[in-house]
Amino acid sequence: MSEPLVIVGNGMAAAKLAEELSKTALGRYAIAVIGAEPRLAYNRVLLSSVLAGEVASHDIELKPASWWRDHGVTLKYNTLVTEIDLGRRELKIENEESVSFSKLVLATGSMPLRLNVPGSELAGVHTFRDSRDADLLLTLAAKRKRVVVVGGGLLGLEAAYGLARAGSPVTLLHLMDRLMERQLDQSAAALLKSLVERKGVEVVLNANTVRIHGNTAVEAVELAGGRMIEAEAVIFAAGIRPNVALAKDAGISINRGIVVDDQMQTGEPGIYALGECAEHRGVCYGLVEPAYEQARVLARHLAGQEAGYQGSVVATNLKVSGVGVFSAGDFVGADGGEAIVLNDAKRGVYKKLVIAEGRLAGAVLSGETQDALWYLDLIRTRQPVAAIRTEMMFGRAPAAPKAA
Ligand SMILES: Cc1cc2nc3c(=O)[nH]c(=O)nc-3n(C[C@H](O)[C@H](O)[C@H](O)COP(=O)(O)OP(=O)(O)OC[C@H]3O[C@@H](n4cnc5c(N)ncnc54)[C@H](O)[C@@H]3O)c2cc1C
Repeated sequence: MSEPLVIVGNGMAAAKLAEELSKTALGRYAIAVIGAEPRLAYNRVLLSSVLAGEVASHDIELKPASWWRDHGVTLKYNTLVTEIDLGRRELKIENEESVSFSKLVLATGSMPLRLNVPGSELAGVHTFRDSRDADLLLTLAAKRKRVVVVGGGLLGLEAAYGLARAGSPVTLLHLMDRLMERQLDQSAAALLKSLVERKGVEVVLNANTVRIHGNTAVEAVELAGGRMIEAEAVIFAAGIRPNVALAKDAGISINRGIVVDDQMQTGEPGIYALGECAEHRGVCYGLVEPAYEQARVLARHLAGQEAGYQGSVVATNLKVSGVGVFSAGDFVGADGGEAIVLNDAKRGVYKKLVIAEGRLAGAVLSGETQDALWYLDLIRTRQPVAAIRTEMMFGRAPAAPKAA
């Protein structure tokens, strides 16, 4: 008889794990996926494109209903899991039913953070995490509501761009002195700012939001220093926090995320976590590629094969049409790497490659990103680059003859 394996969360990590298990461990497990969202797992990354009107919300499902049916996966969506009973190896779900498991995988993702400032509970304050949020933001934009987006990281930029494109006047506030400061250096961030402004987004740097004003609904945002910015809606895009409550209440070891080992196993035998809710070697990832790598490892482990997750080299790709921005690896050169820089302000192109110990350690590209995946591959595979050192800045094609 198949062993009952339950996955909590019907997001991107859960869908990838189900797909990988269907390849590696077909028939070994009776798989059930229980998720709080009221629809089939979808590509969350594409919500930005939904907001920008580039793709329809119903076109972003990761797999059709028939896939789940044909692979024998029991799906319960619109269903919140409220408790894990470790002793009875049971889950409690919203309508008081319980579901037994032999193995359990937590794939509960993250929740968006709201700034703890007065007024953050007012009507008109929102976040951008799921497809219901995207629908709501589209409604705001259709009414031409004046929106302030708080947070100049990838998510905030994509929200601001999407809203502006959909018709809202948008101001983007960022606490730091440059956009995407964790992914971009000063020059690339300055170029990005000018490109985003050209898309109709007003950008305010060094902007410390101290209060949201309004009686019952948002009317303005106040910055430290007293500047007031009129707003009918505020979108917080100021970070995420792993969803760990279920694990924590059950006594499973957590830190910032749910602590897992190289097999994605928590401190409890047979209970695993992956994706944004998991913390591996002190790192909680906020991107989809690490979640997919973890899913491949976990599926092999659950199939009884040798497998270990070693951590991921992450890359960031901004999805703002006509604004190419990419960053990966150690682009600062923190460990004494040397930087090769190309800065063509007139063409709006900036590239920085960091080389350490004869290998590409990191890259930042702004304005021109067609070679991003090639650079990422060089970083991940740690190939020696001495032979292509001079040409690699100009892309894969010029470097190819010597690389061969
Ligand atoms: C607008 C946007 C753009 C993004 N762009 C990029 C990008 O360009 N590149 C990139 O790499 N990443 C991007 N991301 C991040 C990426 O979407 C996440 O890293 C990825 O979705 C993580 O997958 P996950 O399965 O861990 O979490 P999620 O996809 O968030 O899935 C978790 C699921 O668990 C459910 N859940 C939580 N608790 C419970 C419970 N108790 N019971 C039942 N269900 C529960 C949630 O409702 C959710 O559906 C973006 C995210 C957003 C919001």
